[in-house]
Amino acid sequence: MERYYKVYFYSRSSPHELFVETITVRVGDDIFEEANKLKRTGYYIGSIFEFLLPSIENCRACQEEQPNQLAHMEPGGCLYSPE
Ligand SMILES: [Zn+2]
Repeated sequence: MERYYKVYFYSRSSPHELFVETITVRVGDDIFEEANKLKRTGYYIGSIFEFLLPSIENCRACQEEQPNQLAHMEPGGCLYSPE
């Protein structure tokens, strides 16, 4: 099973500069090792958040055949939108 993470990298010289990468981690992978591969010179890893891809496979409400649309909009749900 794959897990998905957003990694926030911050600039050492300017606290307002950052970039974000999405990484995919398989069982047994070291998340910091994967994140380090994406690190640019002068940046450090600020924070790492796991997120669930919106899909029917990940949607608990779909699996439970919930008629309530809101239940499909929770994190990991097929209608989930992070914004
Ligand atoms: Zn659903």
